[in-house]
Amino acid sequence: MKKTKYIFVTGGVTSSLGKGIISSSLAKLLQGRGFSVTIQKLDPYINIDPGTLNPYEHGECFVTEDGAETDLDLGHYERFSNTPTSQANNVTTGRIYQSVINKERKGEYLGSTVQVVPHITDEIKRCVQLLGHTGKYDFVITEIGGTVGDIESLPFVEAIRQMRWEMGQDSVVIHLTLVPYLSAAQELKTKPTQHSVKMLQEQGVQPDIIVCRCEKHLSQSIKSKIALFCNVEKTSVIECIDADSIYDVPILMMDEGLDKEVLRKTNTPISEKVDIENWKNFLHHLHNPKHDITVGLVGKYVELKDAYKSIREALIHGGVANETKVHIKSIHSEEITRENAKDKLAGLDGILVAPGFGNRGVEGKINAVEYARVNKIPFMGICLGMQCAVVEFARNVLGYADAHSREMNSDTKHPVIDIMAEQKNIVNMGGTMRLGAYPCRVSEDSNLYKAYGETMISERHRHRYEFNNEYLEEFKKHGMKVTGINPDTNLVEVVEVEDHPWYVASQYHPEYKSTVAKPHPMFVGFVKAMLEYHDKNTK
Ligand code: GLN
Repeated sequence: MKKTKYIFVTGGVTSSLGKGIISSSLAKLLQGRGFSVTIQKLDPYINIDPGTLNPYEHGECFVTEDGAETDLDLGHYERFSNTPTSQANNVTTGRIYQSVINKERKGEYLGSTVQVVPHITDEIKRCVQLLGHTGKYDFVITEIGGTVGDIESLPFVEAIRQMRWEMGQDSVVIHLTLVPYLSAAQELKTKPTQHSVKMLQEQGVQPDIIVCRCEKHLSQSIKSKIALFCNVEKTSVIECIDADSIYDVPILMMDEGLDKEVLRKTNTPISEKVDIENWKNFLHHLHNPKHDITVGLVGKYVELKDAYKSIREALIHGGVANETKVHIKSIHSEEITRENAKDKLAGLDGILVAPGFGNRGVEGKINAVEYARVNKIPFMGICLGMQCAVVEFARNVLGYADAHSREMNSDTKHPVIDIMAEQKNIVNMGGTMRLGAYPCRVSEDSNLYKAYGETMISERHRHRYEFNNEYLEEFKKHGMKVTGINPDTNLVEVVEVEDHPWYVASQYHPEYKSTVAKPHPMFVGFVKAMLEYHDKNTK
């Protein structure tokens, strides 16, 4: 049983400073020094989870092995640390209150008045320590969403204050701030950092380490100034300069000594060596690609950079595995018609049709699949992207002009995608989809098998609709093969078409399992197919 130490990461000045990347980078470095680490995100909003939030609000919803719908930062945690997360790694204010209210209804508070302090803060502390109490981790990194000073984050900061007081040197607080550069004055400004640290101090928390996001290097005198005014040691002022890639950040943090500072502050022996060679190797290939290709990402949220986060990252990983830079051309699905598909999609080395919900942009996705199928362009469809592939095939090959998914047209005579039986009577929207990891059997005569090299795989899901098996034989007869199937339920997981270089569409989401250490085989295979297509077309 390990003695767990706790690292809290707060943020000040503005949102979007990259607390998730700092936490992930620190985890990577601590792992490199032989420690076991997990990262947790506390989100101060009242939704029970982000599953009901639309991507405009919250970017992508990440899904864990155990089927939790979580904040997209958990995707970064997994991609950096190559360790799966779970429901316990993402807790919202809504979940905290729900659990306290449930206990109150059961009479567990024995007649006392239930209050923010101590009951809500105790529940927050319980959720933080839950991971530590598994005995599996040397360090639990807990990232607090939002910005210090927000009304919503007050109970979380109070819980940290109490844990710091209780745990002493078994805990450490890292505060991430912004040190802006004013070009008119040609100076970096420390005042916002000073103010945000003051705000944290007013709430009873003295940060141990301050990580400063900046676009220009911090001079020694700026570091000294921040140290003096924020009451931290000078070695605890860490520069975090803008990087070309998020994957550069662990190395930047290592050079600045963030991991050593954490170990020193928590009285943990510091080993000389950090095993980070594989990471450096990945960075070498990332920054020195031998080939360039362009994939079209077809979706209805393409203007949002975080909406398809895991897909974008998985394409980077698949690219690095092929020593290839994958350029992503975002194509709005609402804008693709059968007539303009050629113009919109010309010159691409591959087409990826994204997941989604609801009718908007679906016809464009179907048109994009048709273009990829007919012109034999490497194609990958994910979840709704796979369902669109099935609908397209039913319409244009089987000849059912009105074929559709029941989600989009409840009256269609040919519901080739239908609601899953267990979904029919569900009324609550939150947390009720088919979620998380399920097994899938892979047929050997397929591109899918070529990618995985395995006949049994497990992948994560997030959907309510499925391939309608009543049409299975007809699809097979006309050249659409089912190459992945759930062995327990016969649910279709993957379809491919014959006589096509790479047409692989899955009901599951492969992107959630791609990491730096283990690029996902389907993305590796897709990039390889795009490279081959590219080479053939440029010769
Ligand atoms: N809307 C589809 C379903 O619920 C697809 C979901 C998705 O793409 N994640 O089945």
